[in-house]
Amino acid sequence: MKVNELFYSLQGEGHFAGTPATFVRLSGCNLQCDFCDTRHTTGTEMSEEEIVAEASRYPARHVVVTGGEPALQLTPSFIGRLHDAGMFVQIETNGTLPLAGGMEGTVDWITCSPKYGMIPEIQRMDELKVVFDHTHPEYISRLGQVQTCHEDTYYLQPCDRGERDWNMVNLKACIRYIMEHPKWRLSLQTHKILGIR
Ligand code: SF4
Repeated sequence: MKVNELFYSLQGEGHFAGTPATFVRLSGCNLQCDFCDTRHTTGTEMSEEEIVAEASRYPARHVVVTGGEPALQLTPSFIGRLHDAGMFVQIETNGTLPLAGGMEGTVDWITCSPKYGMIPEIQRMDELKVVFDHTHPEYISRLGQVQTCHEDTYYLQPCDRGERDWNMVNLKACIRYIMEHPKWRLSLQTHKILGIR
């Protein structure tokens, strides 16, 4: 598997914010979002065994497999190896690609983070985490109709365009939207606030 980076930190976003976890960031994505902060072309080839051994060095048993788009590389055998090592496996996907080989039923938590204009195509999602852009309220409204496995796992995360004034306007709009639509909760990129990875 081509790995962009593997590191130990706190989950910064969404339902498990604050949870210590090992991050396995796989290279490559089928989308090209203009705000993406991931380098898609770089990476190191690692076997499934090597990744599991590296993740097992850290004390937490929570692994976040992210990307890029992890569905491009994930395999049932990799999920099985992580489970054999006692890991709780969370994946973060943009929801546009199927998880092959029945993996939708075997991973422990699916965080779906669809990108602008897209409605998720995967069948199971435990958590919907949407990048909020106040210029597209109709899209947020459509995503509010998507079913997750739980009632309280709808998150809006203000888009970070790296422009302070735009970000502030967007954050306030996001807070206002959530207060008017209490199905949603606020997700902040707390790792950026804390200055950790
Ligand atoms: S889906 Fe995620 S990883 Fe892929 S380009 Fe968009 S932000 Fe980047």
